[in-house]
Amino acid sequence: MKYDLIVYGGTIIDPAMNREQRCDIGIRDGTIQEVSAGLDRSNASETLNAGGMLVIPGLIDMHVHLSKVYHGQYGQKMLALAGVTTALDMAGPADEVLALARQAGTGISVAVLDGLRPGHNVKDEDPARAELDQLIEGSLCNGAIGIKLRGGHYPMSPEATGRAIRAANEHKAYVAYHAGSIRHGSVVEGALEAIELADGQALHLAHVNSYCRGASRCVIEETEDLVNSLLANPNITCESYVSEFNGTTAKCSDGRPESQVTRRCLTTRGFPATQDGMEAALRSGWAFANMPEGGIMTLITGEKAVEFWRQMNTAAVVSFPINPPEPRLRFATAKRKDGAFVVDGISTDGGGIPRNVAIKVGLSLVKLNALTMAEFVHKTSIRPAYILGLHNKGRLAPGADADITIIDFERQRPISTIANGRIIMHEGVVCGSGCRIITTAQGKEHVLSYGLEPVIMDVACSGFYKRLELEAPR
Ligand SMILES: [Zn+2]
Repeated sequence: MKYDLIVYGGTIIDPAMNREQRCDIGIRDGTIQEVSAGLDRSNASETLNAGGMLVIPGLIDMHVHLSKVYHGQYGQKMLALAGVTTALDMAGPADEVLALARQAGTGISVAVLDGLRPGHNVKDEDPARAELDQLIEGSLCNGAIGIKLRGGHYPMSPEATGRAIRAANEHKAYVAYHAGSIRHGSVVEGALEAIELADGQALHLAHVNSYCRGASRCVIEETEDLVNSLLANPNITCESYVSEFNGTTAKCSDGRPESQVTRRCLTTRGFPATQDGMEAALRSGWAFANMPEGGIMTLITGEKAVEFWRQMNTAAVVSFPINPPEPRLRFATAKRKDGAFVVDGISTDGGGIPRNVAIKVGLSLVKLNALTMAEFVHKTSIRPAYILGLHNKGRLAPGADADITIIDFERQRPISTIANGRIIMHEGVVCGSGCRIITTAQGKEHVLSYGLEPVIMDVACSGFYKRLELEAPR
């Protein structure tokens, strides 16, 4: 047979190849062979009817969670269900993500950042440069492509944060930051401080919408301040998500939630930042526990949520509907003068956290005429592929990886997910297995030791660093 799979009859939206038309796609050995109308289906072992659907390059989600604490054992399935073919895990640890990928892989490709947490993998909130160097090298050897600073939850000093960003840049490792230091929390001042601490170097500022919840001023002012700072600092890579829900931990010690973010979510609605306050918020419908049901994580609230949280000895992931609509809309659509987007991608901060809604909510922006369908593809695939240095993704052209998402536009949901040339999800049934780990040359052996397939990328040659030369003449 000439092809393993032909996807036929759908409307292809492929801005990278300037194509918006009805076409068939012929796939072999995980690679797109041909894109043209009227491919002979008798030449394929398998065919997939995409009639009436939109066919787009596979979604690349630049911010997900697939470790144990964020229910990575369900996350892979949840991503396939959401039409995602490639994802960046934003906290690690790499060993956990790899172990769960081996157990519960659904055929997607995953890259990992190792989270940094004072008192756990660095000594305290002011780690010295040598300690940071060691941590970064260790992360790369463990298969991660870099590190994630988790200041929003577990802050370090601004100086140590700046040191970590510099160290990662010098090692040419990827570095992302959930803003927040011991000076500023996970609020707009923290995000503005993060951009200052980056000091023109490469930095991925995580989920930029999440800092604008009206903690200091009205959400519109906070949002515009952050948009302006991003406009002035094109060295910053960033994504925003479109869900109203956040995701954080409800784990309590000494009578209060350990996470600063959780405490802020409670006080925002007038609950005390204590364990009792956490319980009251779950009971009242302000907090939602992330609970497994039917092989995926779901959101539950009320008495049932309190019960589950107690069973977990408070160590449950919780979500609050705390993201106002204005920043979500603004960050998803804001553009520079030259027409490029200010925020690189639409992400979800999902995976094992049940809010993988890039398609479900993101297509609302298309229906609102806030984004064109081509722009949606740009933000969910083309640009993330560039940032992550995945040169064979983000387009549907001969030679490209056969990562494809088929969408029912009217109902705003993914119908099929094709990853590496295989159908891994169809009509809500996940049938993929295995996992490719996007890693650096340093991490290759470690990934192989898990029996997983490494895909080698060079962070230095990814858009994450290239943009410093191309987009940020200072
Ligand atoms: Zn996250």
